[in-house]
Amino acid sequence: MNPLLIAGGGIGGMALALALTRQGQSVHLFERGLEFSQEGAGIQLGPNATRLLNEWGLADALRQYATFPDELQIHCAQYGHTLATKNLSHQMEQLFGAPYVTLHRADLHDLLMQAVASQETATISTQQSFQASRNTDEGIEVDFFNFESKVKQTIHGSVLIGSDGVQSDVRQSLLGDGPPTDIGHVAYRSLLSQKMLPKRLHSSNVHVWLGPRMHMVVYPVRGGVWLNVVLIVKSLQVPASYDWTINRQSDVIYQDFKTALKGCCNRVQELVRHIEQWKSWKLVNRPAVQNPLQLARGKIALIGDAAHPILPYLAQGAGMAIEDAHVLSQCWVSEETQSSETKLHNYAKQRYKRVARVQKKSSQNSAIFHADGVLRHARDLSLRLLGLQLIDMPWLYAGPD
Ligand SMILES: Cc1cc2nc3c(=O)[nH]c(=O)nc-3n(C[C@H](O)[C@H](O)[C@H](O)COP(=O)(O)OP(=O)(O)OC[C@H]3O[C@@H](n4cnc5c(N)ncnc54)[C@H](O)[C@@H]3O)c2cc1C
Repeated sequence: MNPLLIAGGGIGGMALALALTRQGQSVHLFERGLEFSQEGAGIQLGPNATRLLNEWGLADALRQYATFPDELQIHCAQYGHTLATKNLSHQMEQLFGAPYVTLHRADLHDLLMQAVASQETATISTQQSFQASRNTDEGIEVDFFNFESKVKQTIHGSVLIGSDGVQSDVRQSLLGDGPPTDIGHVAYRSLLSQKMLPKRLHSSNVHVWLGPRMHMVVYPVRGGVWLNVVLIVKSLQVPASYDWTINRQSDVIYQDFKTALKGCCNRVQELVRHIEQWKSWKLVNRPAVQNPLQLARGKIALIGDAAHPILPYLAQGAGMAIEDAHVLSQCWVSEETQSSETKLHNYAKQRYKRVARVQKKSSQNSAIFHADGVLRHARDLSLRLLGLQLIDMPWLYAGPD
């Protein structure tokens, strides 16, 4: 049997390669980069995702790489007081059977990649960029451009899975719906060594500060040695590039960044003062998925950001990519008598409503997090009065059906 071809070796592609090869399936994963990117901010993973990582035999590796925060604390960015808290440690594990963790994206990627590399039925090729595909009687043939030899290679597989991220080429070949939309929000990220900070700024929790047209998220990664800091700002001057770009203090986009911080409380200002270098990333989005045909058609399926970009206002983009990988692999192996097309369609049918719900919730959060004026007061009051009821999401953490 021809291998399943996976275009894109980020979190989603690696998770899928692992889920399939653990069940004896043969996969060939193609990654455009020379090396796998170490870039990206920290990642929070809820029990919906960590339960799957545990099932894939990664519990020990996760304990080694991840940090297990005690609480989520939501604060007012302007005055610094706490609006709501949520227990992330024992309660989460008791309720959902798996932990809530924070870790560096590179660490998550590394632990997935090491597990894939140890599987006999996995082949990984780098410097190969997806170009085009055609159906054949036996499956599908896919053209990849090889950056090393500078020639096009045609590879035969049973199906093609596009896990090539938010600017997906596979998506364009399948749906042709153009690039995602700029939403005018810029994420700035940095890592701070806790050792270099005064004790009062140390933390083992996830902190979110909500302010007008901005919010900041801070949490420990790498066993608590580092603090991951992400500041998301509504910005008039969005950077041109879609990669994490190093910013200089003189960059024009800093004006919005500085304005957003002006009215913030001492703790936020003090933390930010310790940061010498930020990298920025412009956020893009697509409308929520409406039907299964947006996730799979014929012998091609999409997973992760290629299928459904999710704004980072719910911390679930990577989580959904991991869930996609699990569901697709289940559909692939448990429906032996079905055609490849039916298996991929079943994957899409099982996933589209849940990912659409997560996409919509994240987009709503972007307005709530950055609210100003009366809306902001209403939000803060609701958080203080209802707290947990507003921020708890059992439907999400319970995982895919
Ligand atoms: C600021 C910020 C904070 C976030 N925080 C969280 C969080 O806390 N929790 C969470 O779950 N998610 C979070 N996310 C979202 C998460 O990072 C993404 O949803 C996740 O990385 C998507 O994984 P992916 O595999 O679909 O895509 P990617 O990780 O983007 O991987 C795509 C891969 O495909 C490769 N590629 C691209 N084009 C081609 C091609 N033509 N051929 C071959 N390969 C190709 C790329 O090089 C890349 O390696 C956050 C995102 C941002 C921006």
